[in-house]
Amino acid sequence: MNKVYIETLGCKVNQYESAAIMDTLVNMGFEIAEKDINADILILNSCTVTNRTDFKSRNIIRRFLKLKSESPEKIIIVSGCYLQREKEQAIALGDIDALVDNNSKSTIPSIVEQIISSKNTFNNKYQQAHDFVCFDELPSSSMGEKSRAFIKIQDGCNFYCSYCAIPYARGNPRSRDPESILQQVKEMMDNGYHEFVLAGINQGLYGMDFKVKHQYINSLADLIQAICDIPNNKKIRLSSVEPQLFTNELLRVLYNNDQVCPHFHIPLQSGSDNILKAMKRKYDTHLFQNLVNNLVQNKANTALGIDVIVGFPGETDELFEQTYQFLKALPITYLHVFIYSKRRNTVAANMPHQINGKIAKERSQKLIELSQKKLHEYINNLLNKKVELTCIVETCEDGYCYGMTDHFVRTKFFCKDQSIEKGSLISLNPIKAESDYILAEMK
Ligand code: SF4
Repeated sequence: MNKVYIETLGCKVNQYESAAIMDTLVNMGFEIAEKDINADILILNSCTVTNRTDFKSRNIIRRFLKLKSESPEKIIIVSGCYLQREKEQAIALGDIDALVDNNSKSTIPSIVEQIISSKNTFNNKYQQAHDFVCFDELPSSSMGEKSRAFIKIQDGCNFYCSYCAIPYARGNPRSRDPESILQQVKEMMDNGYHEFVLAGINQGLYGMDFKVKHQYINSLADLIQAICDIPNNKKIRLSSVEPQLFTNELLRVLYNNDQVCPHFHIPLQSGSDNILKAMKRKYDTHLFQNLVNNLVQNKANTALGIDVIVGFPGETDELFEQTYQFLKALPITYLHVFIYSKRRNTVAANMPHQINGKIAKERSQKLIELSQKKLHEYINNLLNKKVELTCIVETCEDGYCYGMTDHFVRTKFFCKDQSIEKGSLISLNPIKAESDYILAEMK
């Protein structure tokens, strides 16, 4: 009874949490099973961001239940955002041994032990998302298979954008204690990690919920500065930050520290102010445009990845065209295009003028093509300027290494040195563009 398999859907926060749960279980003596069929303990960390991820979550639970029907001693544990929003639906699927709320994932390793010793279905205290108060600490000093370390710094969001189900699954904003974050970064550095990716549900809110102010660290800007100040710390990367939460203080820290990767991920969602208003987003296109120009002018060769939603209720051809033209004119690098997904209990689900799926798909395709064009332009610009690259190696195969650069562009280079391992930090000179990656050579 000691092989564990975790399946993870969704965002970097879920990925961090699963890696931390696995790290604890491995330290307790459990083994990692590469396939569900070989595992004694099956864990799902589910997601609810779209209808599709709900569907996937249900399918994984059904698959686990089928394995359990063939080998009844298997243990099934389900957690994550799908469970948090659709608990009754998950229960109806069958005999799950433990349902763990989104703010109690740190208890999963002890739940596993208790089920093994008692052989009973586990009846734990299950909290609703609106009752989450504290940050659930999930310590980890390893990221399993990943070559960069994710660090979860924050959970929850109370913005209630009209299309989004996440606040109902993650609860109110809760920030992690800064000392615990710094401690983890130092431990991860000792374990050989060179790049730290900060992750949170709405990480720009970091520190705003602190009841008692900390001595030095009370905002995302303070936290980034403190991480950059750790001696020998090489790279830090931000995941998504809401546009209006890029304060002047945060921008200063991003510009003044070379350890901060020149790559930012910003959710725009629409280039139409009417749609932004209907989405209950807290900024307009003017603010977004100023932010993009500010980042591009002050952080050399910055890559900007932008989230966009197409097919939001009321998005006419004309309003979509506004989004398209807005993005076309901006110096951005690539787009993450999402087709609007109607989420139960959200304000937008009941809005009139829901958009036909075929139209939304066509709009998505148009933006994907724009994104590819932008990415190629960006890559050519890096090549023309002969920008020196650094890369964290992800795989090595047939004499070549593959990885992601600071600028979040895929790269491939001939590996002169056989000692290069996954996770190594390598300096490179770019040679030429190949499809959507850069062929480079070691310096
Ligand atoms: S900021 Fe809006 S889109 Fe992002 S998690 Fe919060 S409610 Fe959802």
